[in-house]
Amino acid sequence: MNALRIHIHHESPDAFVASLEKRLPDCELVCWRSDEDFLRGLPEAEVILAYRPPRGQWARASRLRLLQMSGAGVDTLLPAPDLLPGVRIANARGIHGPHMSEFALAMILAFEKRLPTWREHQQKREWVYHGMGTLAGKTLGILGLGAIGREVARVGGALGLRVIGTQRTPKPVDGVESVLPPERTADLLRQSDFVVVLLPLTAETRGLLNADMLACLPRHAVLVNLARGGIVDEQALARALRERRLRGAALDVFEREPLPAESPLWDLPNAILTPHVSGWFPGYADGVAEILGENLARLETGEPLRNEVDPARGY
Ligand code: NDP
Repeated sequence: MNALRIHIHHESPDAFVASLEKRLPDCELVCWRSDEDFLRGLPEAEVILAYRPPRGQWARASRLRLLQMSGAGVDTLLPAPDLLPGVRIANARGIHGPHMSEFALAMILAFEKRLPTWREHQQKREWVYHGMGTLAGKTLGILGLGAIGREVARVGGALGLRVIGTQRTPKPVDGVESVLPPERTADLLRQSDFVVVLLPLTAETRGLLNADMLACLPRHAVLVNLARGGIVDEQALARALRERRLRGAALDVFEREPLPAESPLWDLPNAILTPHVSGWFPGYADGVAEILGENLARLETGEPLRNEVDPARGY
């Protein structure tokens, strides 16, 4: 019997190759190093591991059974109406929580404990006092209490924050005082001292945090977006930050990445920008290889996949 072949389409495939070689030694691994390789190989492929696959080509993937996405967000793939029926899609949700919750709290603490201010004074050799806030008793609003959002809730709760959040279909979440439906997003914003965005980018969430929604945030609030840039109106956010209608923002994701040099966000003193790094951690590829290995086994037994994506829902 021929070895199962896994095709990998990724900007940096080497870590995935190393992890898959360890976990699935009987599989043959083929790296598509360019979109041309992807297009040429698509008709052959049964199992693909991908991050940002080219759009509009899936009708040619007539043998495809499993499309394992290497990230949690599948907006790089969906909508994909040309995917043939029967193709199963899975993502990497469930591996980011510990790392992204640390990152989210690091950003919140950077504002609350004024880390950029101390650094500025240090650079000027100034010995200056300022007051600082404390997290205990303040409210953390989490948009999207999923795998990552729930971990942010747990860590935030341990630091004394009162936690509220949203889900598409609200369910009780340990340590979260109230779980609200999407229609009550404005309510959550009004109550929050800190908001962490951890929603998938879907037709429902695109542009959700527009100028009107951002105006619901208290002036002293800090917005942390670790999800996708397309959820927030960046121009409206830049205006709110410049006019100090919002205390600060920590942004890891942007509508266009890399963030264009002309973006007004670069120059804002009350924004901390990072280049889409909050989800990365050592061992990431091992986590993905474990999910893919499990899904290959489930494909054979006909069980539901781990992290099966519902294309109609968009996540
Ligand atoms: P999950 O699928 O586990 O969680 C998504 C959550 O969002 C669910 O609780 C879901 O509700 C909720 N949700 C979906 N639509 C809405 C809506 N319209 N209103 C309110 N809540 C909604 O995903 P993860 O937690 O793993 O990841 C979340 C997102 O974070 C990813 O989609 C990705 O875009 C981003 N991400 C970014 C990374 C980075 O490097 N910056 C790394 C990893 C992820 P329900 O529970 O009812 O389904």
